[in-house]
Amino acid sequence: MNIFRITAQELLDSRGNPTVEATVYLDRRTKVSAMVPSGASTGKYEAVELRDNEPQRYHGKGVLKAVRNINAIIAPALIGFDVTDQRGIDQKMIELDGTENKSRLGANAILAVSIACLRAGAIARGLQFYEYVAELFGKPLHQAYIMPIPLINVLNGGKHAIGSSDIQEYMIVPIGAPTFEEATRWAAETFHHLKGIIQERGWPTTVGDEGGYAPPVESNEEPLKLIMEAIGRVGFRPGKDMAIALDLAASEFYEDGKYHLAKEDLHLTAEELADLLLDWMGRYPIVSIEDPFDEEDWESFAMFKERTGNRIQVVGDDLFVTNPARVKIGIERDAANCVLIKANQIGTITETLDTIRLALDNGLHAIISHRSGETELPFEADFSVGTGVGQVKIGSVSRSERVAEYNELMRIERSLGGKAVLAIFPFGAAMPNKVV
Ligand code: PGA
Ligand code: ZN
Repeated sequence: MNIFRITAQELLDSRGNPTVEATVYLDRRTKVSAMVPSGASTGKYEAVELRDNEPQRYHGKGVLKAVRNINAIIAPALIGFDVTDQRGIDQKMIELDGTENKSRLGANAILAVSIACLRAGAIARGLQFYEYVAELFGKPLHQAYIMPIPLINVLNGGKHAIGSSDIQEYMIVPIGAPTFEEATRWAAETFHHLKGIIQERGWPTTVGDEGGYAPPVESNEEPLKLIMEAIGRVGFRPGKDMAIALDLAASEFYEDGKYHLAKEDLHLTAEELADLLLDWMGRYPIVSIEDPFDEEDWESFAMFKERTGNRIQVVGDDLFVTNPARVKIGIERDAANCVLIKANQIGTITETLDTIRLALDNGLHAIISHRSGETELPFEADFSVGTGVGQVKIGSVSRSERVAEYNELMRIERSLGGKAVLAIFPFGAAMPNKVV
């Protein structure tokens, strides 16, 4: 089936900022759309999200230029393309753009079309969305599907919740759950106990951009204590049933060669920040740490990974920006053992799949991730099952744009019946499994 028409429009994301939606038609009536997400703590090397920069509209965040680029440049070039030729479609858009970082047409314009084509390709092939992703990724369709373990962001800070912690994300990881459905229930129960604990402290239970609570904690360690208490109240064994993951998004608090934790008024060297994290690892069931250092600080990533003795997952997000060239540097320098995968950091589905392949072929793990500004399309759900990478980061079990992903994953798991297996988390907690 060939592309009959492509249209685009400006809509809003979960923060009320404009975003791009592309619609691909296979004939006059058969059509499917895709909206793109948007980050707040974006990496310096991400593909360019084209904004109008007209201050009188949406504080300059309008995306009418990107919409026009789809309607006037991308659409005419793609009409008649075989919609299942994802690589050809993405390559064509890369050529039309002609820049290193997709700054001419905008990665938001290109990715909206790329995802809409992916969804349309599934229709053309008569497959479920995740099945079609699996096919494109080269997975034999008769194999069992690997459901991802979710990293659930229950406490938001940094740029996602001003007034909370300096560290951006405190996540829980239901490493002992038998199914995705159980993992989600465990997370929701822990999340609700956390709410009670925050309420008892007399703090507001408002949530941040990714749906985790955003209390005015006094230190960056305090959220770990709150989460441990919540885990204990549900009756889970920390480090056995439920573990903890962090995303420091450290580029956001890197100033003049030091890491500035404003809550404690600390200016730490990379070594000192590593000391702090290693101390926490000894006392809390931490299994994964994302972006512990600045996006340019390859050396500190490698130092930290070595100091952890490879016992936990060290994840590069702003470090890698889903870019194969940067993942290659990371492999050479042994800077991390996991790549966070965000399609809009690189701008096409084909390049995203290539980056995942590169990571997996070199023994790195991968996490399919949302952005802090999301849409109601639960793209990461299908994409994580289709690629089978085994981990997904889709925020908290609150805010409908986040819950939509959990719901979609539960739907997929149930529909697969015995053909779905929950991934095993690749790392255990370093701390002794004490019961709180
Ligand atoms: P972002 O945050 O979407 O604002 O970049 C998510 C993350 O850092 O993982
Ligand atoms: Zn991150």
